Amino acid sequence: MEQKINAYDNVLDLVGNTPLIKLSKIAKNFKGNFYAKVEAFNPGHSTKDRIALYIIEQAEKKGILKPGDTIVETTSGNTGFSVAMVSIIKGYDCILAVSSKSSKDKIDMLRAMGAKVYVCPAHVKADDPRSYYQVAKRIHEEMKGSVYINQYFNELNMDAHYNSTGPEIWKQTAGKITHLIACSGTGGTISGTSKFLKEQNPNIKIIGVDAYGSVLKKYHETREFDSNEIYPYRIEGLGKNLIPTATDFDLIDKFVKVTDEESAHTARDISRTEGMFVGYTSGAAWQAIKQLEIEGEFDEHSNVVVIFPDHGSRYMSKIYSDDWMNEQGFFDSVNTEEECKIEH
Ligand code: PMP
Repeated sequence: MEQKINAYDNVLDLVGNTPLIKLSKIAKNFKGNFYAKVEAFNPGHSTKDRIALYIIEQAEKKGILKPGDTIVETTSGNTGFSVAMVSIIKGYDCILAVSSKSSKDKIDMLRAMGAKVYVCPAHVKADDPRSYYQVAKRIHEEMKGSVYINQYFNELNMDAHYNSTGPEIWKQTAGKITHLIACSGTGGTISGTSKFLKEQNPNIKIIGVDAYGSVLKKYHETREFDSNEIYPYRIEGLGKNLIPTATDFDLIDKFVKVTDEESAHTARDISRTEGMFVGYTSGAAWQAIKQLEIEGEFDEHSNVVVIFPDHGSRYMSKIYSDDWMNEQGFFDSVNTEEECKIEH
């Protein structure tokens, strides 16, 4: 019998269906079982492939997009990469307005993927005409035949995860998941995944991870926007200085805040301990679990799923650079034995 060539049509066939990997080493002294949903296995190396593909295909279905049209987005980098990747395969132009807080690696990478990139100041208010939101909005309004992904205010962001991440985790855990821990930026991942999981079992506890310097946790607790919570922080993609409508706060049971320093050390620990080269927010998510473990959140029956959103290669000039860590003062109060070891 003639053998068929076994190949994918293009990289987009590989979006989603990421593996769930048991964390046995880093969690060895914790009660319960811990599993990482490793989103770096997407072809664009992050969870954002899911929303880029889903939102663009929804626009195609509605007849909004035709070949040669332009996709516009604001992004901390990952969504930009994913939108650029989907645009290449589907024949669209890609324009990205990014925050100056994004790592140089990410910006260079977006340009390498054929995107036109505008770098906008990070520490201006969202309604400032220089902010990346306003820049993207203006480009979209001025450009005919463009689609604005608008991930912070687009409910399709949540739907992408409702239709993929949620069902995948439910199936992979055979319905035995008890906790989901996920960083919240746009909130699309946590809200969409939570919606699906809570429909299956409303007792699954959904815990969001927020940064010090972000308004999300306080908003969740008070339903009030408190600008006093806002100050600059280092972690990219996590937390926010506004309330994204892509987040459904009712679907999140609680938020945990984590620091830049502990999250950076924790990401480095995961890489060294589990052999998974993870991004900064994966460190943040695991840092939240460490804090929750101390609070007694888990017991021996817990099956905890943590989302690791992207790959460590995007942070070579940040958390994986000792010089950068030093510049931040992150080695000043060294808290891991490994960092203190003297080489003989
Ligand atoms: N981690 C990273 C690295 C991200 O880029 C993002 C997206 N901003 C998140 C976590 C949070 O995901 P979401 O936007 O779906 O809340």
